Amino acid sequence: MSIKELTFFFAFFLLFQAVYSQETPRLVIGITVDQMRYDYLYKYWNDLGEGGFKRLLGQGFVAHNGHFNYAPTYTGPGHASIYTGTGPAHHGIIGNEWYSRKEKRKVYCVEDESVRSVGEGATSGQASPKWLTATTVIDQLELGTNDQAKTMGVSIKDRGAILPAGHHADAAYWVDKATLRFISSSAYLDSLPDWVKAFNSMELPQQYLAAGWQLRNSIEMYNESQPDSSQFELPFRNTDAAVFPYDLKKISETRAFGVGETAYDVLATSPQGNELVVRFVEAAIEAEGFGQDNIPDMIAMSFSSTDYAGHRFGPHSVEVQDMYLRLDSLLSEFLSYVDSVVGLEQTLVFLTADHGAADVPAYVKEPAGYFKGKTFGGGLRSYLTHKFGVDPIESVSNQQIYLTQVDSVDYEKVEYEIRRFAMRFSGVMNVVKLGDWSTCSSREEVCTRLRNGYHPQLSGDFYIQLYPGWIDYNPNGGTTHGSPYAYDTHVPIIFFGWKVAPQQNYERIYIEDIAPTISDALRISLPSGCTGRALDIY
Ligand SMILES: [Zn+2]
Repeated sequence: MSIKELTFFFAFFLLFQAVYSQETPRLVIGITVDQMRYDYLYKYWNDLGEGGFKRLLGQGFVAHNGHFNYAPTYTGPGHASIYTGTGPAHHGIIGNEWYSRKEKRKVYCVEDESVRSVGEGATSGQASPKWLTATTVIDQLELGTNDQAKTMGVSIKDRGAILPAGHHADAAYWVDKATLRFISSSAYLDSLPDWVKAFNSMELPQQYLAAGWQLRNSIEMYNESQPDSSQFELPFRNTDAAVFPYDLKKISETRAFGVGETAYDVLATSPQGNELVVRFVEAAIEAEGFGQDNIPDMIAMSFSSTDYAGHRFGPHSVEVQDMYLRLDSLLSEFLSYVDSVVGLEQTLVFLTADHGAADVPAYVKEPAGYFKGKTFGGGLRSYLTHKFGVDPIESVSNQQIYLTQVDSVDYEKVEYEIRRFAMRFSGVMNVVKLGDWSTCSSREEVCTRLRNGYHPQLSGDFYIQLYPGWIDYNPNGGTTHGSPYAYDTHVPIIFFGWKVAPQQNYERIYIEDIAPTISDALRISLPSGCTGRALDIY
């Protein structure tokens, strides 16, 4: 090769390098805030700092009409949908758990008895994405880079780590319920990397529990919420009221008649649960060298504590407000960290949620209420057994009715009687025959959500549709999610960093549009079941 040819070769090589590194981000970080409603971005505005949510809102692509386009809106389906770019109809995660006709029992969305826990003393590691029937954007990144990308999913909850990671990620890490250490399963790893062992040996969870949870600001500043002690919250077990300060260690150790809160639940319900996830991701970035070469890497992180606190204390509580203020500071610190180590101009960040949440019905009073799901299921089965001589129901779960097949029973009559019973029950608006969408009387978009959440092999035969604002939950306090209504479907969708241009977007955008937008940025194939579209965020 002559000098001229050599020069040309190197010039071409450098040009290729330059173009390549300009064309894709070096690192993608997906942030899921479990149970974060869209309105939380603004509810605590006056108390937010400049470097967290406000920075994302000011410098990012902000979707103001970002929605889930399926129901049920639960954590498992949410995380799967964000990363597969489609809904339960295609990715197969129709709930956190659901009744399996094949196995005649309820199955959990990431359970897998064929794999083993990876991590010393771990007990919660028999988990994998085996129920996930579509690839995630992380899967496609590994397939598209010949497995050279560095990828991982991280969350306190196993499903919050595994479903985003998918089948081909380097690893998914979640917190073991017995040891409070980060663990994985043999679906991903044979043993934990040294940096994970070193992280675990710092015993941060024990320090966090000992430190307790105090309000960050003086109580007068929480005027966006109900008083600290309110009737709309569920106190921890063996405590009189849900009030600050929380002695987390004591709560996790107190037992009355052998019953009490586990250290895992207490940690997961405190803001320190979010901090633990951030510290772990920072340790990973440092040890694994995420974002340090021209092959793009991806991290999916999910904050579970916002969901645990949301369920227990509800959206009107000082506890939830304090958790978001602390998350705001944590995000600010984390973004600065990523900027210093990788550079935000090289990092594409998105932030969203896996579902929203209903206002606490007892607080709303009208129009809202509590659907008594257990009473409904038991009552319906007795009623039908009385009518037909046999119980034609196999299971009632996730507000769905699974029928059994008994030759002697006329199922048209069963359907008639189910409707007759259900329509008189408090909170029930309609009975939708799943698969027969002519029985959905709602507006088209609500029926479409039910259809997008329906899987012919896994879902039940009927869906009990409640009135908006009604939940199947403890009437003594707290709240839940799962409905096809706006409070559960309307969530933040924000892209930030890399080449993203600031934009306030008011189009209808769906959660399934996130994954194809990331695929587009990474110049890789869409996830296998993808039904979303890439957004112009530049
Ligand atoms: Zn969730």
